[in-house]
Amino acid sequence: MPKKKLKSDTEPKTFEFQAEIQRVLDILINKLYKNPEIFLRELISNSADALNRIRIILLNQSQKVLDPEKELNIRISYDEDEKILTVSDNGIGMSFDEIVKNLGTIAQSGTLEFLKQVENTPDAVNLIGQFGVGFYSSFIVSKEVIVRSKSYKPDEKAVEWKSDGSGSFIVTYTTKQERGTDVILYLKEIAKEYADKFKIETIIKKYSDFIGFPIRIGDEETIINRQVPIWHQSEDDISDDEYNEFYRQFSMDWTEPYHRIILNVDAPIQFRALLFLPQRRSRYMTTSMYQDYGLKLYSKKILVQEKAKDLLPEYLRFVFGVVDSEDLPLNVSREVIQVDQTIRRISKVIVGKIINELENLSQQKIEKTLTEESGEDHESLQPNFNEWWEQFGIFIKEGIIQDEKQREKLLRLLRIHTSKSEEEFTTLSEYVKNMKPDQSDIFYLLGENLGTLQRSPHIEYYKKKDLEVILFNEPIDSFVMMNVTTFNEKNFKAIDQAEPEPDKEKKPSDTSEEKDSSEEKESKKDPFLKALESILGDRVIEVRYTEFLTDSPCRLINPSGMGTFTRVMKYMDEKSIPQKKIMEINNSHIIIKKLKEMHEQDSKDPLIPLNVLLLLESQELTEGSLNEPTQMIKRIYDLMERLLKVK
Ligand code: ADP
Repeated sequence: MPKKKLKSDTEPKTFEFQAEIQRVLDILINKLYKNPEIFLRELISNSADALNRIRIILLNQSQKVLDPEKELNIRISYDEDEKILTVSDNGIGMSFDEIVKNLGTIAQSGTLEFLKQVENTPDAVNLIGQFGVGFYSSFIVSKEVIVRSKSYKPDEKAVEWKSDGSGSFIVTYTTKQERGTDVILYLKEIAKEYADKFKIETIIKKYSDFIGFPIRIGDEETIINRQVPIWHQSEDDISDDEYNEFYRQFSMDWTEPYHRIILNVDAPIQFRALLFLPQRRSRYMTTSMYQDYGLKLYSKKILVQEKAKDLLPEYLRFVFGVVDSEDLPLNVSREVIQVDQTIRRISKVIVGKIINELENLSQQKIEKTLTEESGEDHESLQPNFNEWWEQFGIFIKEGIIQDEKQREKLLRLLRIHTSKSEEEFTTLSEYVKNMKPDQSDIFYLLGENLGTLQRSPHIEYYKKKDLEVILFNEPIDSFVMMNVTTFNEKNFKAIDQAEPEPDKEKKPSDTSEEKDSSEEKESKKDPFLKALESILGDRVIEVRYTEFLTDSPCRLINPSGMGTFTRVMKYMDEKSIPQKKIMEINNSHIIIKKLKEMHEQDSKDPLIPLNVLLLLESQELTEGSLNEPTQMIKRIYDLMERLLKVK
């Protein structure tokens, strides 16, 4: 867009819409929608924002304001014959520069989000009502839109903005005495029904009932809307639909919320909160780029911060809602909010409440299953906690890592897979309940996918002994396990990790063998193990026998205490050098037996290194740590040639 110099003349100036905005406009103008009526909701919401902003400026009394005494209100007028609908407010208004920037040259986040959604979801165009694209929604119903605005700053002249939505808009100075904005819609023929009192009233009641400023129609003095914000009303007076509509309007999520939390606290601090837990995770929420979170913070029903990030810890960034406190000053700045004690205390209550509610929800599921089992028909439309967990469990895991204070509680929410649970989720409490009488630790194994974990050689021993093993298959689990050592006073124990060295000082009864120095141990070592170690060289720390295998010939284990750390390093830095492992072999497996025999007969037999390296590499392959697959493939070909008697 060419930069226009503003002179104080009255000559109209033409500006081009920013490309993204034009794309949105093209979609709005050319498609048919299921509920075009949302345009009015969007315009009223813009007016309410403008009124809120002027209210804060007036309260601060730091600037000169035009018309400071007038009642803050919204008026909707209509002309049935001319098919014109006008939304007027005496809010903050806009200057020439502001109108150019706000209505056409800089896309707001809502507009950009809409474009993203439309591009990613083929059906999203039909869901336009759920998004709302702010001011531009007016073009769904209008062939032309005129905006007249006068800024609250007494020196700014009134301006007029005009466009038919195709390519450009014209801005000129105009005459308007009162502060505020009129949005004048010249309705399309198919949208003429909106220039009707009854229609307008119905839409206001449906979408804008809780807007905190009086809305009037035509010349009448009757106020149409209830005004009192939804979070200030008694829960009995509000229907689920009304709550859900409220949620939808600011979450841009068109599925119903999973759960609603209402808080009305009087002491030690007074505040009200209306919070929603979504049912579905938006794709952006998990990326570190997602900054678009935070609760709406009100002080005495007046919005003071659109996205207050300090009310919730980052891991609860999926929660939508409002907090309104009588105990907060109106002119709180962002910096003040960060350190404010009141905010801290509110935050503490909210976080505790959210986690408690989640715990209740997670238990409801169990109750539900129980009643189902007892044959009662107990249908619930609410998705169960496990389904919710699929979407949001990752945030709770983040919380376990970050929030030491809530860790124990959050661990109770954790849904896990185990060697016994198959596809179903279970919980740590269930796990502990089912522990064998002589089982002291909670066993777990980290890996990349459930199938591989289920078939891992590490599990064999535990399956044979009927011991349950937790299978962690998400990258974040390694980070979780770096931070968690116990649950219900039971220690966690990784089963792919060597036992800690026995503490020699404390065990005087140790046999003389255990007191041997490592050199002595080395000279006593089984010649077969020594041969294996020399074949594998520095690819392993050690080769030794184990009792922990039944069906597999060998496994790789981490040195004591290193397993989780190694995985975390792998995720943090792909180039990190993998920790070397210990190879444990199964003395009673036929492959090992045969190799041992072979070694006794002819220790130089070339089949020994070929097999031993393949044993190592097949384990590395299943664990995702195989560095040079081509070497392994060469060995497999070599083996095939031998089998086919080529060699
Ligand atoms: P959003 O409301 O999401 O910010 P819109 O596209 O609806 O996006 O509006 C763009 C901007 O235009 C607003 O952020 C606001 O600055 C300005 N604006 C819109 N309507 C009004 C109004 N009635 N009074 C004052 N400013 C307005």
